[in-house]
Amino acid sequence: MAEVNKSSLDPLSALCKRRGFIFHSSEIYGGMPGFWDYGPLGCELKRNVKDAWWQFTVRSREDVAGLDATIIMHPKIWKASGHLDTFSDPMTMCKDCKKLMRSDQIADILADQKKKPQPKITGSDFFCPYCGGELTEPKPFNLMFKTVVGPIDDPQNVAYLRPETAQAIFAQFLNVTATSRMAVPYGIAQMGKSFRNEVTPRNYTFRSREFEQMELEFFIRPDEAVELQYGKVVTLADNPDLNGPVQDDWGWEVWHKYWVEQRKKFLAAVGLPPSTFVEYWQKPDELAHYARACVDIEYDFPFGRQELEGIAARSDFDLTQHQLHSKVPQTVFDDPLKQACKKLSDAEKDAFIAKTRTEWIARREKTLSAKAGKPVVLDEADSAALAANAEAFCRNLFEGKYVPHVIEPSAGVDRLMLALLCEAYEEEKLTDEKGKEDVRTVLHFSPKVAPIKVAIFPLIKKDPDQDRIAREIFNKLRKKVNCQWDVSGAIGRRYRRQDEAGTPWCITVDAQTVQDGTFTVRERDSMRQTRMNYGEFLAMMYEALEF
Ligand code: ATP
Repeated sequence: MAEVNKSSLDPLSALCKRRGFIFHSSEIYGGMPGFWDYGPLGCELKRNVKDAWWQFTVRSREDVAGLDATIIMHPKIWKASGHLDTFSDPMTMCKDCKKLMRSDQIADILADQKKKPQPKITGSDFFCPYCGGELTEPKPFNLMFKTVVGPIDDPQNVAYLRPETAQAIFAQFLNVTATSRMAVPYGIAQMGKSFRNEVTPRNYTFRSREFEQMELEFFIRPDEAVELQYGKVVTLADNPDLNGPVQDDWGWEVWHKYWVEQRKKFLAAVGLPPSTFVEYWQKPDELAHYARACVDIEYDFPFGRQELEGIAARSDFDLTQHQLHSKVPQTVFDDPLKQACKKLSDAEKDAFIAKTRTEWIARREKTLSAKAGKPVVLDEADSAALAANAEAFCRNLFEGKYVPHVIEPSAGVDRLMLALLCEAYEEEKLTDEKGKEDVRTVLHFSPKVAPIKVAIFPLIKKDPDQDRIAREIFNKLRKKVNCQWDVSGAIGRRYRRQDEAGTPWCITVDAQTVQDGTFTVRERDSMRQTRMNYGEFLAMMYEALEF
């Protein structure tokens, strides 16, 4: 990132506006907080980020299938997922200035304003950070946008804009499984718009009310099924090779770490090497009750270290919830598992059930203890209910049936774009041979995501041969990648314009091109110029664009 201006987004946002990356939505009407539009360069960058994710996550793998579901879905989906009841932020209002704010963010706002917290007087811990007024009691505010389906504005017709893309994947799990001819372990990926009525959208595009997500639900066997089929469950302690081919005997812990590593590989491929972010492993008391583990990948944005994306091990919570609410079984049939279980004696099955019961109770007590901060022992009724569930689960396994568990890598397109922009932005100080100083603004995008891949110029625009040959190259190349034609101004100015757009290569056609067909290729970061022919350029470009 830029040596200068590390602490502020202002120079970057000014560049984004000036060069057509990001605009305020509805700007001529004063804009809308939390809504952003991507201009000509921004929408190319976004498309490239999404294409890269799709290529990496879906097309380059044999075990992931895609989905493109609707934004508005049956409202029962949000009841089953828990979003209707619990997807809320605590909101408070100042009784004097009437400003709304998230009560959990007041400390951050005060810190931004370099003010000290004041003593507690109401249900909130603070006075209003803006005017010092009294605050109302914090109330949960559901973040889902409501709408009405059909012409009658009746509570029965209320539906919601999806707050995440993931739930559609669970709701279509059976259809995709039946039609993709894939078997667990396998994943379903989806990308698209999500909507959250954030109380305080902030930090440019980081927290928006309309944004895009790229989510993968990777379904795996429960560890118990792995154990029955393979006689063991590979854990991280076994030191599995996470860079090699995936293995059927991996337990959830290995699958989870595998996907953390995959996500890191992806981020490096699009321009965020591991040195630029940190892994934050959520502590046991921070985890959702159903989650086994969750890693946030955090990036140092100019406004602080913040979550870029998350990778969660969500057990079988989601599919089980949909099974409960829809009454449609979400089990898969795993014939190799059934065949393996056929070889077990009744005594071996009983022993397996007893072991599973003990493990489930121990795990539940561990989770509750972490949340309570003190040892919790299940009472007799809860233990008996859990033991009965464990037995039913085992008996299903013996028949080759289970509800798959899931690992969920969930990323935001807009957040990744913002991180890529922050990382790419540099105001580079240059000194020429005569000692004259200059500043070059450059976006060091990876060629894989750069909005324009190649800019093509005739050195002398009035030279008909140079113009014709440059046009021929432009017309051939634009069929393959996004190119730009530029004849205005001196060649140095044209290079600088492309530096600001993050274009990795500029091709300049000159007098020698007319003689021998070679042209100069100016590389953005090193500013080095190399002569090559069309074939050599294509080979170099394709190598840089390949995953
Ligand atoms: P946060 O705590 O920052 O609100 P979250 O933990 O609620 O994020 P998830 O529900 O896990 O986020 O969503 C997955 C990803 O979607 C996030 O890591 C982020 O990249 C993106 N995302 C979530 N909310 C927003 C938003 N309001 N604006 C832009 N991107 C978002």
